[in-house]
Amino acid sequence: MIPKRKKYQCIALLMAMEGEAKPLIAHYNLKKIAFHNPIEVYANTDKSLLLLLNGKDKRHQVDNIGTQAATLNAFVAISQYQPDLIINCGTAGGFSSKGAAIADVYIAHKKVCFHDRRIDLPGGFPDYALGNYPVIASDYLASKFKLKQGIISSSDALDYTPKDMLIMQANDVSVKEMEAAAIAWVCQQYNQDFTAIKAITDIVDGKHATATEFLENFQLASEALKTKVVAIVDELKMKNEV
Ligand code: SAH
Repeated sequence: MIPKRKKYQCIALLMAMEGEAKPLIAHYNLKKIAFHNPIEVYANTDKSLLLLLNGKDKRHQVDNIGTQAATLNAFVAISQYQPDLIINCGTAGGFSSKGAAIADVYIAHKKVCFHDRRIDLPGGFPDYALGNYPVIASDYLASKFKLKQGIISSSDALDYTPKDMLIMQANDVSVKEMEAAAIAWVCQQYNQDFTAIKAITDIVDGKHATATEFLENFQLASEALKTKVVAIVDELKMKNEV
């Protein structure tokens, strides 16, 4: 028997891109309640469900994707709203060698890590660089809602270097994206329960250019993401809304 997950009073969904978040904001009829520059905060009426977006870059008017804004987002979420579970939701690249296909939805399994941080110094620095942060148990949720399970790895690049690839292979990575490990680091620091749910927009070890594939599959993946995130939130959240 796979143990059931405990229930949470307040769940915060942390997201990088407005386009990924729109289906969820519409589904739960979330309203914008605050702006902690650049983080945009949406919530339901009793604030038991929060959605925090990384917001836009002031100079380039694009979504603040990547680890810097993700770290800030996690700090805002924890310090201002004290959720008891943080879920990083978004899109990602998947490895076909690990069974990933377009629009598959993954839940973080075992750990999340980085693949672009290399600190070859004595002591704890090499392991500090890799991260390997904890995530909540995924077996129950994966089997109940038919999610794939995989190790998620983050960097600040949509592409990868040969060294990044070696690190991802050594870490048995199935899913490559740009935020999860940054958020997981903050969560580890604050003893905050964390998981990530990622829909696949592009195949990392496939033959198509990542950017083209990403744009073609973005809407399909964002809808698939919404369906699974809603199922998981409804399963994990205490029914405290009137
Ligand atoms: N080209 C896109 C931006 C994609 S950036 C645009 O113009 O809108 C990639 C975002 O999606 C990040 O938030 C990241 O977490 C996720 N992502 C999707 N596929 C990825 C991949 N193959 N590698 C890294 N991040 C990916």
